[in-house]
Amino acid sequence: MDREELAALVSEAGEPSYRAKQIVEAVYRQRVETLEEISTLPQEFRERLAQGGVTVGAARIENKFVSIDGTVRYLIGFADGQSVETVWMPEGDGGEAGDGSEAGEEAESGASPSRAKARSEIGEPIAALKRCATQKSGRSTICISSQVGCAVDCQFCLTALLGVKRNLTAGEIVGQVCAVLKDQKVSPPEDRINLVFMGMGEPFLNYENLIKASRLLVVGVGIAERRMTVSTAGIVPRIHDFGGEAIRPKLAISLNASNDALRTRLMPLNKKWNLEMLLAAAREFPLRTREWITFEYVLLGGVNDTPENAREVAELLRGLRCKVNLIALNPGSGIEFTTPSAERVTAFQNILRVAGIPAFVRRPRGRDIYAACGQLKRTVEVATSPEPQLQSISLAPEA
Ligand code: SF4
Repeated sequence: MDREELAALVSEAGEPSYRAKQIVEAVYRQRVETLEEISTLPQEFRERLAQGGVTVGAARIENKFVSIDGTVRYLIGFADGQSVETVWMPEGDGGEAGDGSEAGEEAESGASPSRAKARSEIGEPIAALKRCATQKSGRSTICISSQVGCAVDCQFCLTALLGVKRNLTAGEIVGQVCAVLKDQKVSPPEDRINLVFMGMGEPFLNYENLIKASRLLVVGVGIAERRMTVSTAGIVPRIHDFGGEAIRPKLAISLNASNDALRTRLMPLNKKWNLEMLLAAAREFPLRTREWITFEYVLLGGVNDTPENAREVAELLRGLRCKVNLIALNPGSGIEFTTPSAERVTAFQNILRVAGIPAFVRRPRGRDIYAACGQLKRTVEVATSPEPQLQSISLAPEA
């Protein structure tokens, strides 16, 4: 529930409106697990809420796998027995691009050192010191899921093999974040946390819940919009809608091919929204100051990683305020493609850079625990309910 829904709840209960704020604070900031723990509410009101069927608490961590690189893959379960995977990538990742952290760097560079110095000179030295003292972690990132499974069927992605079981509610999306923050004993804004909607599922096929969750994450949990990135495979109408949202994360587009024939082969969704439509939406997307669109490109050995492919990508993206994140395929059984050599990845990157497009190679995280991009599948496979609520998307061209 967001603040408005909680305001309605407390109003119906005949309680003063500030109770809604107290509940938001307890649930999203303090991340309490029971109504009993909300000590700011009168006991009698807590009892009435409980009698009315109101419960609080984050999603449940069912399992946890820790990589040698510090990445943690969580299996997070919900009330109906369904579960998703959520990945924690700790600080000190050596400059990995595309995890949403660049925005944080940007913001920090805007705030310091000159602004911090200016502030301290005009009488805020204690506040500046406090900020330093409480900034416990560097730039950790949580990769969250938006659906159980995925309907988009990208040919290089293990999640696609699951199909889609159902959408997550806004509460379940936020619940993943709250559960991981609590487990890692970190708390924004004191700890710099970036969020990427790049886990299981296509966020724009669960649009309403995505937007509601984004607002809750900003207003409730305290994570700034500029620290969140939503990645879409290219649901063009929703890209247009997303640009008009008052509160929205940054946009990333999963490109993965340099021409329509190749993209349709790798991402059947391209039959419905082809590159021309996708890039038109990207060009129209209203970017904020110092914001850019990220294009992700999974490099598949011998398939989409040739110099010609790189030149076509450079041509496609010409004039866009964007950057490209290159991801060498993370291997997984059931996937027919291979990981390209480091030389090919570098050659691809160089062609883009020479063409004036910022291009970064993403360092794989948590491959040993199947937590890297496109690998989120394994533990969910054994944990899904026997009665899936299947959804699908039509791939017929739009009228
Ligand atoms: S890459 Fe993303 S959109 Fe494509 S199948 Fe995997 S989870 Fe779905």
